[in-house]
Amino acid sequence: MFDTSLQETLDSVIARNPGEPEFHQAVREVFDSLAVIQERHPEYNDLAILTRLCEPERQIIFRVPWVDDRGAVRVNRGFRVEFNSALGPYKGGLRFRESVNLGIVKFLGFEQIFKNSLTGLPIGGGKGGSDFDPAGKSDGEVMRFCQSFMTELHRHIGEHTDVPAGDIGVGAREIGYMFGQYKRLTNRYEAGVLTGKGLDWGGSLVRKEATGYGTAVFAEEMLAARGEGLDGRPVAVSGSGNVALYAIEKVHQLGGRVVTASDSTGYIVDEAGIDLDLLKQIKEVERGRIREYAERRGGSARFVSGGSVWDVPVDVALPCATQNELHESDAKSLIGNGVVVVAEGANMPCTPEAVELFRAAGIAFGPGKAANAGGVATSALEMQQNASRDAWTFDYAEGRLTEIMRSIHANCLETAEEYGRPGDYVVGANVAGFRKVADAMMAFGVI
Ligand code: NDP
Repeated sequence: MFDTSLQETLDSVIARNPGEPEFHQAVREVFDSLAVIQERHPEYNDLAILTRLCEPERQIIFRVPWVDDRGAVRVNRGFRVEFNSALGPYKGGLRFRESVNLGIVKFLGFEQIFKNSLTGLPIGGGKGGSDFDPAGKSDGEVMRFCQSFMTELHRHIGEHTDVPAGDIGVGAREIGYMFGQYKRLTNRYEAGVLTGKGLDWGGSLVRKEATGYGTAVFAEEMLAARGEGLDGRPVAVSGSGNVALYAIEKVHQLGGRVVTASDSTGYIVDEAGIDLDLLKQIKEVERGRIREYAERRGGSARFVSGGSVWDVPVDVALPCATQNELHESDAKSLIGNGVVVVAEGANMPCTPEAVELFRAAGIAFGPGKAANAGGVATSALEMQQNASRDAWTFDYAEGRLTEIMRSIHANCLETAEEYGRPGDYVVGANVAGFRKVADAMMAFGVI
C-alpha cells in the first residue's frame, strides 16, 4: 500500500523505536493515509518532514520518589514527550496509570500533533504521564505523588512552552495538586500553564464536558452527512470516566438513547436508557464499580462481566474507554447488528483490523483525532481565557466547542473529497491535520 519512501521511513521509525507497538501502530495508521498526498507534494519528502515529525523534539523521563501512608519510599517513572511545536506550545494530557510507558506516551503525543492541528487553534502536540495509578491511593498519597512529579516537570513547562492537561487517572484533584506545586515552585500565578483547572482558579466552563460533548456532536454530524439523525436511536458507549459520562449526557440531549457503559470490570446494559444521575453518583462521586449501577437501578439494567459491550445491538457506537478496546470480532458484531456510525471518544480504541472492517463495510468511522478533539480544543479556549484574564459563560464556551467540532467534521470530509477518498474520515483527518503542521515546518527550515 505504501510507496518505497514511506515504507522506508516507517521501517526506520520502527527500528529506531523498538518495543513500542502502540507508537508503531499510530505512525502506520497516519502513513497509510498519507500515501494519497505523496505524489502531489514531493517537497514534503525532500525536506524529510515525515522523518522529523516522527522524532519527538524532546523526550523527558524522570524519577518520581514519594512517601506512602505507611512511611515507605515509593518510586515511579515520569514522562513528558514534547513532540512537535510547529503550531504552538506543546499541548496534551498527562496519564497516570500503571500501564504507562514511553511507547504509550509517544503514541498519544504523535496523535496529539494532528488532533491539535485539526482544531484550527495554535497548539503543538505533546503528552506525558506516569506509571502511577491514583486508584486505591489516599488523597495524601496522591498529593505527595503529584507534588513530586511537578517538582521535576515544572522546569519543562510554561504557558508559552508546554501546557499539560488531564487524561486517564488525572482529573481536577490531580491538576489542583500539580498547579499548587507549580505555583509554589515558580512563585508565579501562571494559570495558562495547565488546563483542566478548577473553575475558581482559572478553569473553563465546559472543559469537563468537552471531550464527550464533542464526540457526540461529531457523531451527530456524521449521521447528518448521511441524511440521518440521532433522535430515538440506540447508542453504545464504553467506559464510564470523564469522556464516557459526558458523551452520554450530550447524546441524550440530542435525542439519542445510550444503552451501555463499562469499566475495566465489565459492562452494563440498560435498554430504558442510562440513568446518568445514578451513573455520575457512582462514578464521579463515590468512585465505585459499574456493577453497582445495575444493582441500584433494578429492572431495566443488567451487569455483564466478561463478554463485550460491542455485542449489544445499536445504531451508533462510541468507544470512550482506552486504546485497542474494540477488536475485529467486536467490529463484526457491530456490523452484523446494523451499526451505521462509529466515532472514537477515546484515543485509538479501535484496532487497525476493526477500522478496516468498518471502512470496508461502508460504516462511517470517525477517528479519535477528529472525533475527540473537543477536549483539547476547549483546553485551548481555557488558555485563551487565562491569557485575557476572562471567564466565559457556559453557553458561549459550548457554542465555541460545537462550532469547532462542526468545522473539524467539514474539514475531514472536504479533505477526503479533495484527495479522492470521499467519505473517508481517516484520510480526511490525517491529511488535513498533517498538511498544516508540514507547511509550518517547511516555513521554519530544517530545525
Ligand atoms: P477516565 O480515567 O476518566 O476513564 C477511563 C474509563 O475507561 C474508566 O471507566 C475505566 O474503567 C475505563 N477503562 C480503562 N481501561 C479499560 C479497559 N482496559 N477496559 C475497559 N474499560 C477500561 O479517562 P478519560 O475518560 O479521561 O479518557 C478515556 C479515553 O479518552 C482515553 O483514551 C483518553 O486518552 C481519551 N481522551 C480523553 C480526553 C479528556 O479530555 N479526558 C481528551 C481526548 C481523549 P476503570 O475505572 O475500571 O479503570
